[in-house]
Amino acid sequence: MSEVLLEHALLGDRVESDVLVTVEDGVITEVSGLAGARTSTTGDPDGRAASSETVRGLTLPGLANCHSHAFHRALRGRTQGERGSFWTWRDQMYRVAEELTPDSYFALATEVYREMRATGITAVGEFHYLHHQPDGTPYDDPNEMGRALLAAADEAGIRIRLLDACYLAAGFGLDPEGVQRRFTDGDAERWAARVEAFGDERVGAAIHSVRAVPRDQLATVAAWARSRQVPLHVHLSEQVAENDACEDVHGLTPTELLAEEGVLGPLTTAVHATHLTESDVRLLGDSGTFACLCPTTERDLADGIGPSRFLYDAGSRLTLGSDSQAVIDLFEEMRAVEMHERLATQQRGHWTAVELLRAATVDGHASLGFTDAGRIEVGQRADLVTVDLDTWRTRGTGATAETLVFAATGADVIPAGLETTAETA
Ligand SMILES: [Zn+2]
Repeated sequence: MSEVLLEHALLGDRVESDVLVTVEDGVITEVSGLAGARTSTTGDPDGRAASSETVRGLTLPGLANCHSHAFHRALRGRTQGERGSFWTWRDQMYRVAEELTPDSYFALATEVYREMRATGITAVGEFHYLHHQPDGTPYDDPNEMGRALLAAADEAGIRIRLLDACYLAAGFGLDPEGVQRRFTDGDAERWAARVEAFGDERVGAAIHSVRAVPRDQLATVAAWARSRQVPLHVHLSEQVAENDACEDVHGLTPTELLAEEGVLGPLTTAVHATHLTESDVRLLGDSGTFACLCPTTERDLADGIGPSRFLYDAGSRLTLGSDSQAVIDLFEEMRAVEMHERLATQQRGHWTAVELLRAATVDGHASLGFTDAGRIEVGQRADLVTVDLDTWRTRGTGATAETLVFAATGADVIPAGLETTAETA
């Protein structure tokens, strides 16, 4: 058992000072204000606080990064030299994907996950589709690449949900070509058999997109996820071109197609959800599907601004992801959701800081299937992170939710292991 005295802590929707947290086996067993702690200690009002460690700064639940492609990190700073489009960026990304081996991917992902940990992220949803050897032949263990990612997460000390993606087609009616042969299992039945063989409870499911999984294969993936009660993530309407092609082939929007095939629901997260109709928003909200925005990637790739507030008000809880890793900073993702809305509408105040913190913590963890994380309360995992309130960016701002969302960055998170100072009586 250990005790930490938090100078300031985000407890639900409010920040409190002098919060004493008791932890056993990584789980919070008691949370009390200092006054409460004193009343439970007879004769020695300062005894408990004096025996605990003190954490200076503003402590919050560890952040959930709900959409990551670890290998995209190799492109940071390398795709901005020329004009181009989403699709020319994708060509560069494919060239990185061609080169990776299980060993090199383990090394790259370990560093990426360490960067996440250093910026306050304690859980990652890794959307994984780089499954096979360059010519499409499975490795001896067909899940070798996925296992490299799980091992990298262990090495970096981050909790992972490996969202193993079904990817079968280069586009509507198009066979995989080039590096895409590394992605495909042939059909959804064989995808399910491979994922089933994983034998690791951290594995969840993903549908790459309606471009990459033909209509008659969607239900198989959804059924597997539902039968195992694991999260199911899907890229949705990131680009207008995807919507147009889907309408041409199926006479439906991508959201309508997913709804008809039984893909939406409270285990499902729609990633991006950028270009939606009003009826799409209703389908997502009514089904309780999460919406994962990745604002720093979406602006980098000129995707557009998703209707986050409409989705939330319709019933889709918001979550956040670093996606392409051009930036790994959930504070910036929170801030960007609100800032992008301001630029688009010339109005402020679409999202409160508390709502955005909920997206980055409790709702994010829930969308990854971790319902015991994201709150500083009894029974929750004690994966706490602390923002230093004495840096250039945070000094003088105050211990508030607004400081976390509108002033802090990932660089203000105190490195793990350095946040406590032994308190001597
Ligand atoms: Zn993605």
